[in-house]
Amino acid sequence: MIKIRTVGVIGAGQMGNGIAHVSATSGLSVVMLDVAEDALAKAIATIGKNLDRQVTKGALTAEAKAEALARITTTTDYAGLTTCDMVIEAATEREAVKHQIFKTLVPHLAPHALIASNTSSISITRLAAGTDRPERFIGMHFMNPVPVMKLVEIIRGIATSDDTYHATEALAATLGKITATAQDFPGFIVNRILMPMINEAIYALYEGVGNVLSIDTGLKLGANHPMGPLELADFIGLDTCLAIMQVLHEGMGDSKYRPCPLLVKYVEAGWLGRKSGRGFYDYSLTPPKPTR
Ligand code: NAD
Repeated sequence: MIKIRTVGVIGAGQMGNGIAHVSATSGLSVVMLDVAEDALAKAIATIGKNLDRQVTKGALTAEAKAEALARITTTTDYAGLTTCDMVIEAATEREAVKHQIFKTLVPHLAPHALIASNTSSISITRLAAGTDRPERFIGMHFMNPVPVMKLVEIIRGIATSDDTYHATEALAATLGKITATAQDFPGFIVNRILMPMINEAIYALYEGVGNVLSIDTGLKLGANHPMGPLELADFIGLDTCLAIMQVLHEGMGDSKYRPCPLLVKYVEAGWLGRKSGRGFYDYSLTPPKPTR
């Protein structure tokens, strides 16, 4: 079984920077790649801020923070990924984007290297089929925010080998995570169950059953959820929520998964939640103000 010492992370957004963060604090070398130079600079700044928070809380020493940051390098050039034992893709949730990334990545990979996708919902088997190594391809679905959330959902494509699966489980353990294994069906386990609930909350808003505050308060206090579904949707990113609903809808061919038109409208408006400053809440105000 291969031992993973150097990890590549493709996509330096909210998930990519979290994966780089936990990999570096777990002693692994990290090469982070993005198409956008400014995304890389922003990711390093975010990782620095999140490490500072851990130092303040006493969870990390200042020395360990400096060592973790020193283990992360950034690049926009795929040639920087040749030393990686595993490359974890965490770019935008669009299948065409991911296929293009894997096509560009493969010629630069060491023969033994594994590929993981952090996709929330796209078929691992289909993504793997576009590479030269379907048996060394797996789904590694981290939760947001990565440094805080304990779970990694591991998804086996139809061709994923036992060695790849065990190496991925070992990597998750090195990162201090607990795993749940899912078979490769749309949405896997977590989003198959979570996303229809979020979509239903948006339907309840759309149909005027309740406003943002009453829906979120209802689920927080009535079902003991730590965050309301609309607050959680904003946290995940409304574009990501829509992309996952589309995958469930198309993949299952069942109308019960149709994305709510209000979700579509918000994404069309560029109201993507926290990351764009506005979604079901307006984040320019403290505390964030419900928009409906
Ligand atoms: P994000 O929008 O914060 O970041 C995406 C990043 O990908 C951006 O920095 C963008 O510049 C980069 N990117 C886009 N095209 C690229 C390309 N061709 N090559 C390299 N980089 C490229 O998105 P995110 O929330 O970090 O989501 C990333 C992935 O993680 C998606 O597949 C998503 O489904 C999955 N995911 C998200 C969450 C969540 O809660 N947001 C949770 C689990 C998994």
